[in-house]
Amino acid sequence: MKPLNLLFMNLIEDWKRRKKTTKKHHQKLINRLKRETPKKLNALADTVHEEVFNELDCLDCANCCTSIPPIVNRTDASRIAKHLGMKSAQFQAQYLRQDEDGDMVMNTSPCPFLQTDHTCLIYEYRPKACRKYPHTDNFEFANHFKLHQQNTMYCPAVFHILERIGERLLF
Ligand code: SF4
Ligand code: SF4
Repeated sequence: MKPLNLLFMNLIEDWKRRKKTTKKHHQKLINRLKRETPKKLNALADTVHEEVFNELDCLDCANCCTSIPPIVNRTDASRIAKHLGMKSAQFQAQYLRQDEDGDMVMNTSPCPFLQTDHTCLIYEYRPKACRKYPHTDNFEFANHFKLHQQNTMYCPAVFHILERIGERLLF
């Protein structure tokens, strides 16, 4: 039997190999899932989310922290600034920028708080957007179809959650 961390890595490697070639398939799958009742879909997504995250270790990945600057709202900024012993305005000037939608986001990718071992320097104080990513649990799945479509290219967990939901619901 393979060591557990190799099993974890397999879901990530599988995603890397297949993410581009399955893009159209996932688009069709999402369009099909939109016809399901949200309650049923969200309940299944919660179960599959837990299952996939039990098989996949985010510390082997960190692709969201590397590629997608998270939104940092005012409450996040003041909480993180306080933790760092900074004024909120000083924190915003040093770490945030406004994106094309007018939201304040971290100003570098990879995130300035991502460590070389993939841990988060401000984990307990991280933005709400980081806590909620990738929006596949807490009965939220059906509210974010467009996001899931994009995230199949960034997040191996979303890729596998989507595939497993498709297998169980449609085949
Ligand atoms: S704040 Fe932490 S969890 Fe959020 S993107 Fe940065 S490193 Fe990742
Ligand atoms: S991209 Fe997905 S699997 Fe990778 S660290 Fe982020 S949430 Fe975890």
